Amino acid sequence: MQHFTIKPGKPLAEQAELGHNRWHPELPFLGNVKPGEEIIIETLDFLDAQILDNDDVSDVRDIDLTRAHPLTGPFHIEGAEPGDLLVVDLLDIQPITPVGFSGVFAKSNGGGFLGDYFPNAAKAIWDLRGIYATSRHIPGVRIAGLTHPGLMGCLPSAELLAEWNKREAPLARVGLAKPPEPSTAVLRGVKGPKFDAMAKEAARTVPPREHGGNTDIKDLSIGTRIFFPVYVKGAGYSMGDLHFSQGDGEIAFCGAIEMDGATHIGFDLIKGGMAKYNVTAPIFLPSPTKPRYDQYITFEGISVENGKNYYMDATVAYRQACLKAITYLQNFGFTGEQAYMLLTAAPVEGRIGGIVDIPNCVCTLSIPLSIFDQDITPKGMLNQGPFFGRH
Ligand code: ZN
Repeated sequence: MQHFTIKPGKPLAEQAELGHNRWHPELPFLGNVKPGEEIIIETLDFLDAQILDNDDVSDVRDIDLTRAHPLTGPFHIEGAEPGDLLVVDLLDIQPITPVGFSGVFAKSNGGGFLGDYFPNAAKAIWDLRGIYATSRHIPGVRIAGLTHPGLMGCLPSAELLAEWNKREAPLARVGLAKPPEPSTAVLRGVKGPKFDAMAKEAARTVPPREHGGNTDIKDLSIGTRIFFPVYVKGAGYSMGDLHFSQGDGEIAFCGAIEMDGATHIGFDLIKGGMAKYNVTAPIFLPSPTKPRYDQYITFEGISVENGKNYYMDATVAYRQACLKAITYLQNFGFTGEQAYMLLTAAPVEGRIGGIVDIPNCVCTLSIPLSIFDQDITPKGMLNQGPFFGRH
């Protein structure tokens, strides 16, 4: 089986034979794969080996975010042409080193979903043992991993790249999107004037786009089958940003439980699949296996923030649900930062409740109860009360 390896702890710029950290249709292929073939792809953590296993938050605080995301690829899939669907089977995903990290970016450098409420950098190092993660920085919690890649997809066509740059430019001008950034671009196998021309327009990897990309969907986990649109000859599949575990929303932005890892992966092709099935964005068949968490505590949030009523805004509603969960967890010995990092890392479920009852949208956030070494229900009432026969 072909096996594409990384050197853990070394940034992508020092192992540029590995891959790339921007999207561009003319990237040379790293390897060749036949439909029906399986390979193993190793990938670096999404912050390019900048975060160290220690108790000092300065690495998170001073992070260079333009180095995200180091990707391994792109892979040439034999026979793939624009309009096909690339079938990807995530057969297994394992950490390479038994350590992961979560963090909170400083509001002044990166921020996050709750940046206005948690402006300072924070960090949690996780020990990864078998299926479990524990952290000396968030005691009293043990998480069973729902392990997945945060980022996968095929290369854009020249037309698609031009469209991305055009539609994101107005947002980038006011700081709400990330424009191309040549200074830290790594484009495997490209040098000289060609590099300069490509790096100037190559898209950053931060947002999810119609090819998939940085979707950070926790349910794209081990055992999932995904169907990706193909835009260039050979497809050009790349991946990175492995998560040992993540909550819906990856709210802290400085990650889930981020790790270096190896993915055992299988490929197939559906010729002409995009038109045949009217597919214009990835679709997937979730895994038949996942950690079995049965009981949750669920928090409601509505689209009202700081006394202002937002009209049917699911983002505001989800933020409120997160804030209410964090405030509640502080009753049980967690600091606000610990609770924030827990919600970004644990397999919490985010849902849209009602999105029709004007003017308020309601979203929920559910935390599995058995990740805690204590009963975190009000008054310890998970298994007590009138229907348990005590009077
Ligand atoms: Zn990530």
